[in-house]
Amino acid sequence: MKVLKFGGTSVGTSKSLAHVKKIVEGLNGPAIVVVSALGGLTDRLISTANDAAAGNAAYKNNMDGIANRHYDIISETIDPCKQKEVIDIISPMLADLSDLYDGVALIRNLPEKTLDRIVSYGERISSVIVSRIIAGAKHFDSTTFIKTEKWFNKNIADSKLTDSLIRQAFGSFGNGVAVCGGFIATDRDNGEITNLGRGGSDYTAALIAASLNADELEIWTDVDGFMTADPRIISNAKVIDHLSFVESMELCSFGAKVIYPPTIYPVFHKNIPIRILNTFNHEAPGTWITDNRDSAPSGCIPKGATTMRNISLFTIEGDAADNTPDVNSRTFNTLAKNGISVILVSQSVERSSFSFALSEHDADNALKALLNEFAPDMEEGRINRIARHDNKAILAIVGENIGDISSIGPRIFNSLQRQGIEVLASSHGASSSNHAYVVDADDTNHALQAVHEIFFE
Ligand code: ADP
Ligand code: ASP
Ligand code: MG
Repeated sequence: MKVLKFGGTSVGTSKSLAHVKKIVEGLNGPAIVVVSALGGLTDRLISTANDAAAGNAAYKNNMDGIANRHYDIISETIDPCKQKEVIDIISPMLADLSDLYDGVALIRNLPEKTLDRIVSYGERISSVIVSRIIAGAKHFDSTTFIKTEKWFNKNIADSKLTDSLIRQAFGSFGNGVAVCGGFIATDRDNGEITNLGRGGSDYTAALIAASLNADELEIWTDVDGFMTADPRIISNAKVIDHLSFVESMELCSFGAKVIYPPTIYPVFHKNIPIRILNTFNHEAPGTWITDNRDSAPSGCIPKGATTMRNISLFTIEGDAADNTPDVNSRTFNTLAKNGISVILVSQSVERSSFSFALSEHDADNALKALLNEFAPDMEEGRINRIARHDNKAILAIVGENIGDISSIGPRIFNSLQRQGIEVLASSHGASSSNHAYVVDADDTNHALQAVHEIFFE
């Protein structure tokens, strides 16, 4: 059994849906198809909610546009004798969406759980439509088996409960094709609609593949595979034939948008291969992501480079930074207690400072918590300051066994230096498979071009 996930670009138009139909109907075994909302729709649902909250009457026209886009797709792609049945299912959903927008406009406020309900309609509706486009397919409602729990202010998957609910939901599913929405979920405690985060349909597909021990997870998108860099920035980026799970995990966690980062872990754990394939070019071989044991090259070969934006770099300076283990552990504990993840850590050689990078989104909370934690040390002068620098980016170069700084580090530093790009912090060897550099946000694309040229062109 295979799990296939089709992203927004693959289900955005009648034309792209014709490709999806052809791919799925051409399979010769059972399959579970996970779909995103129509391309660009989640952004539209959110911007319309913001318009409504701001009292901008444009939200009404946007709502009509959202409804019409779905009705047009139905009339262009679904057998006329089945159209009424689909319209009868989605009309009440669109009516509820419209009521939600009116409610938001009335109270001029957009609570998080209302936004979660609003965005859920993207996948709730697209999955019904796709299930009627594919001959013989059966629709499954993901909100009944993908469960989340609260973790600080985020919703994260409750993997254990989700695993057993997925097995129950698909337990008696035979040999056919099932279609369900990605991204959407419900809270395990109160049943409210939630989601797995932007780009989360990949993760839905991985959770299903892992629970049902699928033979393969296929991520169908709009590029020929995982590439040596983001093709929107590097026009001559090349498709990578094979990545190990670890390499793909590193590339995704450092910003390669092609797969949502949490996706890899559940399938890695079960050793289920992932393939990245192009909906618009079925014949292209794509990228295989598998256990590296069979096929990792022995030397130190970078596989790809990526960048991550909206980064803040923090530096703790002062004599106490000399007492590194204490400062490090208090920093990490404080951040962890506040649900903040550290993306990169860099220790200065003379040990009088210690830097780490995190998402700009977490920077306010991080600064507040650290100033609180180190207040006594600052008062006594053991720590001079906790500096925060926003508007930074991380450049990461990934490949199994490249961790040792002596291998490729000098080439990267020289190349960045030749381009006049200052490295503000760097980390090597924390993992054996990446080198990561903090640079100014303005230098991001140049830095990526510079390293792409030396390793992949
Ligand atoms: P989907 O709608 O199918 O989920 P996404 O937009 O989430 O698609 O992911 C696919 C996009 O990821 C590609 O169109 C490409 O622009 C971008 N991307 C970023 N980095 C890479 C990379 N290293 N390889 C391939 N695509 C990448
Ligand atoms: N529709 C959601 C988003 O745009 C989830 C997904 O496409 O994976 O983020
Ligand atoms: Mg995606």
